Amino acid sequence: MLQGDCFVAKNAPRNDGWSLMRLGNVEFFVVSDGVMKSDAGGVYGLVPKSLWENVTPADDQNRIPTHLNCLVIRSQGKTILIDTGLGSKLDARTEAFFGRAGGAQLLNELARSGIAPSEIDIVINTHLHLDHCGGNTLRANGNLAATFPRAEYWIQRLEWADAAFPNERTRATYLAENFIPLGEQTRLIEGDTRVTDEVRCLITRGHTRAHQSVLIESNGKKALFIGDIAGRAVYLERLAWIPAYDIEPLETLETKRRLRAWAVEENILLIFQHEYLLTMGYMRREGERWWVEKVE
Ligand SMILES: [Zn+2]
Repeated sequence: MLQGDCFVAKNAPRNDGWSLMRLGNVEFFVVSDGVMKSDAGGVYGLVPKSLWENVTPADDQNRIPTHLNCLVIRSQGKTILIDTGLGSKLDARTEAFFGRAGGAQLLNELARSGIAPSEIDIVINTHLHLDHCGGNTLRANGNLAATFPRAEYWIQRLEWADAAFPNERTRATYLAENFIPLGEQTRLIEGDTRVTDEVRCLITRGHTRAHQSVLIESNGKKALFIGDIAGRAVYLERLAWIPAYDIEPLETLETKRRLRAWAVEENILLIFQHEYLLTMGYMRREGERWWVEKVE
């Protein structure tokens, strides 16, 4: 049970963790595309191992678990999916590299929640790194097709351009197969963009130049699906903890500084995409100490 802002419905669609949540008139729930293993050097960048290993112990290959949380939102008659995980197109070697037990999970999790792919009206990609949009498309009869046949895919125009013209540093994560086959189903958006009266895309620059988070707002209450500007709670608690993946780390720093102050001020429910143990929480502050209080 949350603190009066949201509640967990009794007819929860999932029996293995997160449940249907309600914030004002909006319903939402987390679905996952599984848990992959990430090299801790990428996840923690310049942070010394002696500091981060107290937060997340690594395995014998220096990898740590990375959840692939996505979010389903129902707002004003629209069913919206934010991000699509790694997806099902990885070859066996790449799947082994990511160490995801059981392969793609997203469609199973949606099915378990009673949602068919054709019911998704809008897919929002926070950005086009392969662990956020791999499930945008799938391989069917040897061809690549949109996984969600009726959906419009909302992608920032600048992010799309950066992904379509990658450089030596970004080309391993920007894979054309995840967004080019969407063709006419692509909707390029520019800057902060309203999706419904209750859902908005907000630019949160740093991880990529046009990274976006998604704000849910109803009856004066707010929740934020943060995306990779702070995929883990510790990134907001300690501003200097910035992944090596970030394209503009100093922009990340300033974006996080603003985000966490706003989150405290407005008591925003934060939803973390890559967290292992803490999927949702509220930012708290006492003097110079900042922490995320977990929502059970
Ligand atoms: Zn990313």
